[in-house]
Amino acid sequence: MSAQLYVVATPIGHLDDITYRAIEVLKSVKLIAAEDTRTSAKLLKHFSINTPLTACHDHNESDKVNHLVERILAGENMALISDAGTPLISDPGFKFVRAAQAKGVQVIPVPGACAAIAALSAVGLPSDRFSFEGFLPSKQSQRLLHLNRLKDETQTLIIYEAPHRILECVKDMADVFGADRPVGFAREITKTFETIKKMTLGELVEFISNDSNQQKGEIVLVIGGASVEKDMEQEKLDQLLTRLLQDLSVKAASQLAADLTGIKKKIAYQRALELSDKA
Ligand code: SAM
Repeated sequence: MSAQLYVVATPIGHLDDITYRAIEVLKSVKLIAAEDTRTSAKLLKHFSINTPLTACHDHNESDKVNHLVERILAGENMALISDAGTPLISDPGFKFVRAAQAKGVQVIPVPGACAAIAALSAVGLPSDRFSFEGFLPSKQSQRLLHLNRLKDETQTLIIYEAPHRILECVKDMADVFGADRPVGFAREITKTFETIKKMTLGELVEFISNDSNQQKGEIVLVIGGASVEKDMEQEKLDQLLTRLLQDLSVKAASQLAADLTGIKKKIAYQRALELSDKA
């Protein structure tokens, strides 16, 4: 007999975000493995799904999965769900999927809501390349180390953060990435107090410091990648200006640099002033 394991996404807030196929699959399987059976019981009740639930979470996943895989191999189709969104995405399920796959069980995704992708789709930051970082370490020393490793990453970064840590986390990001790095703040997606905003990290520190409501609920941060082009342009301009300033006045050097590079005269002049001050 060949039975399947369905990995089923559930809503991240708005119950209408479940798919028709998810409901159909959850009704048709013999057993649903859920992160928290009480949370999932409410969802199943809402959609009149009467399939039995069993707990499969971080604390029992290692022991439980072999037993569940045996049952699938004996012919019982099963579904895996988490409390919200897509299982395995900062949620349990990896060990189950890996064990099922290793025993030759067909694992079938039933896609749907995922907070990371929902946030990325709406915050207006580059989405062609991105890195999902999940939750950052909760200890500040480890978080700073981790952020330092991510500092020069040019892809967009997606981070999940708990509300009670959001302010300290954003402050650390502003310190490490720079206060002018763009950030998308996506809070309570699909829920009553949904807030989606794009600003700089410095502005976000102010925004959430000044409004404690912004430190509540569920939050995704989408951070613009390090701007390689900007750094290179800056470096080239600095080299050119440094050389020109050896023979020319600030005004003449910046005029010539602007003509040669196409950079705005005002910007070249400002930078020439800074460099001549340092010299
Ligand atoms: N598996 C889920 C998914 O597919 O997105 C993520 C589960 S993870 C344990 C929970 C975290 O996801 C929250 O702390 C928050 O960062 C993010 N999240 C979940 N639902 C959200 C929502 N409605 N709005 C914003 N962030 C959400």
